[in-house]
Amino acid sequence: MPAGARIGIVGGGLLGMTLARRFARAGLAPTILESAPATAGLASPASIGSFT
Ligand SMILES: Cc1cc2nc3c(=O)[nH]c(=O)nc-3n(C[C@H](O)[C@H](O)[C@H](O)COP(=O)(O)OP(=O)(O)OC[C@H]3O[C@@H](n4cnc5c(N)ncnc54)[C@H](O)[C@@H]3O)c2cc1C
Repeated sequence: MPAGARIGIVGGGLLGMTLARRFARAGLAPTILESAPATAGLASPASIGSFT
């Protein structure tokens, strides 16, 4: 990876967040580009009645 490279990750689901964490642990500063109002994707919490 060239020094000063900028990293964009499309999607803030589990895959995108895992990638971001790995890049961050390698000393890089990735940017997650997420189209939804919140991250987590399919792993987002959902409510059915009073259950979450
Ligand atoms: C009810 C349920 C139960 C599950 N249980 C399990 C389980 O027990 N064990 C297990 O291993 N897995 C389980 N899964 C599956 C697991 O949740 C998914 O496989 C995992 O969350 C997928 O993550 P992902 O990052 O690959 O994709 P996603 O979660 O789909 O994330 C993709 C993200 O990218 C964003 N995105 C898409 N297109 C764009 C774009 N063009 N620009 C910007 N952002 C974009 C989306 O908004 C989303 O946030 C379950 C799923 C569900 C729905």
